[in-house]
Amino acid sequence: MSRQTWDEVMMATIMVIAKRSPDIQTQCGTAIVDTKHRIIGMGFNGYARDLPDDKIPNTRPLKYPWILHGEENAILNCTAPLDGAIAYVTGWPCHRCSNLLWHQGVRWWKIIDRTVKMVAEQELLLKQFYEYTNAYIAESKDIQIDPFHDERPKNTLTIEIIKPNLSFLIGVAEEAHNMGLIKTDFDKFRESLNG
Ligand SMILES: [Zn+2]
Repeated sequence: MSRQTWDEVMMATIMVIAKRSPDIQTQCGTAIVDTKHRIIGMGFNGYARDLPDDKIPNTRPLKYPWILHGEENAILNCTAPLDGAIAYVTGWPCHRCSNLLWHQGVRWWKIIDRTVKMVAEQELLLKQFYEYTNAYIAESKDIQIDPFHDERPKNTLTIEIIKPNLSFLIGVAEEAHNMGLIKTDFDKFRESLNG
């Protein structure tokens, strides 16, 4: 049996944690791991703890001042120093989250290249941010070093675009179905995949 890679497992993990988000328009997940692959911070976009979810807007633009981003939450929830850690993110971090991750020493980001509409001002800020952090943005296959084992340049941001194969999740779903945890008609689902 071939084992799933850490990238595959972590990408599936952040997609699952994103489902906890109260934001009905965009659901994001972030996990920050140390160089031994241990999760030391995890978050999704949502409201600050103990606020009344049902009273706070969950659509644009009224939600904006209330929503903590997944990256922010992951940083706020972290259980260990983040210096040298690696972030898995379900999309491109915004300018504010980019600053926070960088500031905390999280300088290798593995992201899903998800297209988002970005306002021009945000785009310009990010362009400058990438310039000031000597950002190296590349797909996994073009990156020679492994952040979990190799020495990384301290003052350079690396944004690794990963395209993990998550088809193993079908197996996970099947197992959950057999355990009675999934109520949908799994046979029909399988048929739709094959068709
Ligand atoms: Zn953000």
